[in-house]
Amino acid sequence: MTGLADLAREASSCTRCPLSAGRTQVVFGVGDPDADLMFVGEAPGRDEDLQGEPFVGRSGKLLDRLMGEELGIDRSRCYIANVVKCRPPDNRDPRPDEIAACRPYLGTQIRLIRPLVVITLGNFATKLLLETDQGITKVRGTSYPYGEAWLVPTFHPAAALRAGGVVVAQMRSDLVRAKELLGWAA
Ligand code: URA
Repeated sequence: MTGLADLAREASSCTRCPLSAGRTQVVFGVGDPDADLMFVGEAPGRDEDLQGEPFVGRSGKLLDRLMGEELGIDRSRCYIANVVKCRPPDNRDPRPDEIAACRPYLGTQIRLIRPLVVITLGNFATKLLLETDQGITKVRGTSYPYGEAWLVPTFHPAAALRAGGVVVAQMRSDLVRAKELLGWAA
């Protein structure tokens, strides 16, 4: 069976969609391949495209901080991936054909990692994995069965950076929900 490292190698030369033409490198994912907790974001931005790691820019700094403060972990204790693995030009939204082309990579990542909890960050990851058209504001605030795991939708940290206090507080409470499902709560 293909492992995560083999899949990353395969993805590194992927040309399944037009985003491959503009990328510096594929941003496959980072963290513990046996993690109980997985975060799924949207798409790499400029910093991620340059460094080859998800969530290393401003959004990532907020994610790291909330992860530390609410879950008591750093990124080495979870796994972080995105819906699409290559940077869309000018940070535009990923298109349906790009999401569809990249979907098998995320599916296999989740199948190999077998997390207990998947936290989706923002609309793209949430709509894709929950198979819903409803937006994040509607669906967050609870957890959903996801195969043998739980899915906890929350805001994208970029939205929290834009909106500030209330949204950050809601993200915190979503992380606490995940912590309880993981059995990490004191
Ligand atoms: N936003 C995302 O959705 N993913 C990243 O990796 C960085 C910013």
